[in-house]
Amino acid sequence: MERQAVFAFDNSYRRLPERFFRPAEPAGARAPRLIRFNTGLAETLNLDPAAASDETLAAIFSGNSLPEGAAVIAMAYAGHQFGNFVPQLGDGRAILIGEVMDRDGQRRDIQLKGAGATPFSRNGDGRAALGPVLREYLVSEAMHALKIPTTRALAAVMTGEAVHRETKLPGAVLTRVAASHIRIGTFQYFAARGDVEAIRTLADHVIARHYPALAGVEQPYLALFSAVATRQADLVARWLSVGFIHGVMNTDNMAVSGETIDFGPCAFLDEYDPRKVFSSIDQRGRYAFANQPGIAQWNLARFAETLLPLFGGSEEENVEAANGALAAFGPVFQTFWLDRFRAKLGIAGEAAGDLDLVNSLLKLMEAGEADFTRTFRALGKVAGGADIGLLATEFTDPTGLDDWLARWQQRGESDGRTAEARQVEMEAVNPAIIPRNHRIEAAIQAGLAGDFSVFERLHAALQTPYVEDPEFVAYQRKPETAERVERTFCGT
Ligand code: AMP
Ligand code: MG
Repeated sequence: MERQAVFAFDNSYRRLPERFFRPAEPAGARAPRLIRFNTGLAETLNLDPAAASDETLAAIFSGNSLPEGAAVIAMAYAGHQFGNFVPQLGDGRAILIGEVMDRDGQRRDIQLKGAGATPFSRNGDGRAALGPVLREYLVSEAMHALKIPTTRALAAVMTGEAVHRETKLPGAVLTRVAASHIRIGTFQYFAARGDVEAIRTLADHVIARHYPALAGVEQPYLALFSAVATRQADLVARWLSVGFIHGVMNTDNMAVSGETIDFGPCAFLDEYDPRKVFSSIDQRGRYAFANQPGIAQWNLARFAETLLPLFGGSEEENVEAANGALAAFGPVFQTFWLDRFRAKLGIAGEAAGDLDLVNSLLKLMEAGEADFTRTFRALGKVAGGADIGLLATEFTDPTGLDDWLARWQQRGESDGRTAEARQVEMEAVNPAIIPRNHRIEAAIQAGLAGDFSVFERLHAALQTPYVEDPEFVAYQRKPETAERVERTFCGT
């Protein structure tokens, strides 16, 4: 295969013991065509393919023409899928092509998703359909614009070949950029094999790569656990603050870096409903909106189990240490969550009634089927002096809203900010534009028909989620009944 010298690779994962991965060459694509290349991200990665032609980019990011020094490996991992342990999953449709240092000196993985079968593909084809590629591109880049830690999308390419799902669909490859692709399931892979040496090697790699401040501490592995738990608590609090439902929070879909990873049947709330589930495969609602903090903690318990042999004490002491660290997740999450929602309400400092103030609003929103995004955005305008009618129209039943607003105004007035300043602060944290499910669906449907303008325009609107640009007002709209998307699919 032809190799091009455009990436300054430094492949640290490839240097780990051989049992951490399998070699995996991309299969190549018959007629690759570039859909989108993320020039801004490429610049932060110090990549020069930004200067390359679309043909060259399509060749690279379909896997047809591998850059010089590419690692080309599939990473080994296990995972609990919907609570059931699977001892071997691994990258079945993803190939790591290497790691580069970005402009901030951070190591970043570059991975092709959908470039062909790997030794972990089992019965799968290792390919991706266009729909899920467009969805991941849009949602991951939207999450980034919403200041939520996430993997990024560097490129989307059509392969010119069909993939066979329920029907024949156009094939595509997404190039994903991540702080790393190490998952809780990566630790579980070695734990399932009783390979303590590998767990230690992996933990040391993760500390050096993601938590360097822990390198010299007294109990680095316990500290690693707590640090991962803290980042997950922060991450899930951020998800809940924008109405995001990951959809498949299996342990193999939780990155130890603290980034959102594996955008499958993910979705955003329109009206607020804590029990909301969109994913077609989540029949029991395990990964419902409000279950996400509890699931994160459950996954972290699985992570702690893998680290126990490294804690250094007796079995009893190790379990006690792990339980203590795990128990901290609840309060840590609660603090992150309440801070996010205080900011959404535009209230400064901390007061005893804040938790109840937030929960009371959420209850009214649930009862009144209020749109999650629009309600908080409207509340910012009310803070700035707009008539409360603007807010009340978001509720099918605004009973109780007046009382709540009086409590909220009283709480907000105590800190001496001007109404304008408060509105500006609220609008900086309450997005006007999120990747609504019906918009994603429309972009995918148009893309399947060969028209990527809908995708491009949505992508552009999602770049500035806090700005009410007149050009993009339509994206602030909630779906009409006929436009509503109730089910999302993982598209594997
Ligand atoms: P995911 O749904 O992305 O979390 O994937 C779960 C597991 O299924 C991972 O091990 C994937 O690599 C594997 N997988 C998903 N889709 C495919 C596919 N089309 N071909 C091979 N493996 C796949
Ligand atoms: Mg996955």
